[in-house]
Amino acid sequence: MHFYLATSFIFPRSLRLRLFAICFVATHLPLLCYIGWGAATGRLALGEVVALTLATMVGMALALHGIGALLAPIQALAETFDTKAGDGTSLPRVGDVIQTLYAGVHRAATVTQAQIDELAIAAQEDPLTGLANRRGFLAHIAALPSAQRKGCVALVDIDFFKQVNDMLGHDEGDRVLAAFADRLAGQVRRADMVARWGGEEFAIFFRNGLEDEASWALARLAEQMRHEPIGRVNGRVISFSAGLSRWQGGPVEEALTAADRALYDAKQAGRDRICRAGGALPAPCP
Ligand code: GH3
Ligand code: MG
Ligand code: MG
Repeated sequence: MHFYLATSFIFPRSLRLRLFAICFVATHLPLLCYIGWGAATGRLALGEVVALTLATMVGMALALHGIGALLAPIQALAETFDTKAGDGTSLPRVGDVIQTLYAGVHRAATVTQAQIDELAIAAQEDPLTGLANRRGFLAHIAALPSAQRKGCVALVDIDFFKQVNDMLGHDEGDRVLAAFADRLAGQVRRADMVARWGGEEFAIFFRNGLEDEASWALARLAEQMRHEPIGRVNGRVISFSAGLSRWQGGPVEEALTAADRALYDAKQAGRDRICRAGGALPAPCP
């Protein structure tokens, strides 16, 4: 690389011409030495000079032809990078095969990195609702500074959702899921986090939120579901049940397990209600 950079002042925009120039000097060196030595000692023989000059020219022609042939496939490869640089855009023609190759590889690496970033985002997102998925939810919480790793967590599950699929079809089921996700996202603050936990179940993290505040937000949503239903099935409006737990730091999984138990209590108590972990009896429908 040092030699490459040190010689770049000779034909800076063409590696091919630079190689030819170095080759020209190198192949003529024995001839020049002989002429110099002969002139200094006075023993210059015309026949030897002619023979050496001819041999030098043949050698140089061979070397130039060989270098040209060796560079041809590299040039072709460079032109491939040049015109098909990953995202289909053309790179500027720089004339130097090494620079062109480098620019092409750099562009390809950039495009690949962008695709890896897109995949990483997609791996944490639910395509149906656009919310984070379980992995995204946990990654978001894990990335929070410890001072913000507390508040409340809720697990929210749509009631009798199987009936929506069975009676109205899976497309309607998907629409209900997406509409419910929008409603949930609309009820929380920007600092909070809503995710699709799986199937028709959602998780919410109320950052630094009190249990009462979280419970009111869910109760408001329950009220809205009754007055502005996102759908009806089997003669009743679609409702949800929720389990709520405080989270005072430590592993969030423990709070989620507590919220899951509270959700189970809400289902057992008749659905369409919000239960708190460790609460005495499940609260009736607000
Ligand atoms: P419960 O009140 O006890 O929660 O009853 P449920 O019917 O809501 O719960 P259950 O677990 O019996 O059924 C959940 C259904 O959700 C079953 C599954 O086919 C459906 N489901 C899960 N993911 C999707 C999805 O992405 N789209 C649709 N349309 N349905 C889904
Ligand atoms: Mg359900
Ligand atoms: Mg469920």
